[in-house]
Amino acid sequence: MPLSRRRFMILVATVASTTVVPAESRADAPVLSESDPTAQALGYKTDVSKVDKAKFPRYQAGQTCANCQLYQGKPGSAMGPCTTYGGKLVYAKGWCNAYVKKA
Ligand code: SF4
Repeated sequence: MPLSRRRFMILVATVASTTVVPAESRADAPVLSESDPTAQALGYKTDVSKVDKAKFPRYQAGQTCANCQLYQGKPGSAMGPCTTYGGKLVYAKGWCNAYVKKA
């Protein structure tokens, strides 16, 4: 039985409403592990003091996830979603090589 246009539109609306979740509501998102392959490639550390500064010379003192453009956590929160890692939670005091200074 072919899918009618109406049924198709309802299906699209249903999928869109269940998959588009604002980052702030992802409190139950998984926590990014330092052993995640992408995290390893980008030198992510949960604690900025552990960053391998020889391997990642882009790091500059004062940079942390909390002041990165890609961090979506609330100010003062210990963790928040990061768009680099698909919304997984990163530590506010962490850092990785994808850091972009907050405008
Ligand atoms: Fe932290 Fe920014 Fe790297 Fe995400 S992209 S892990 S917020 S430094």
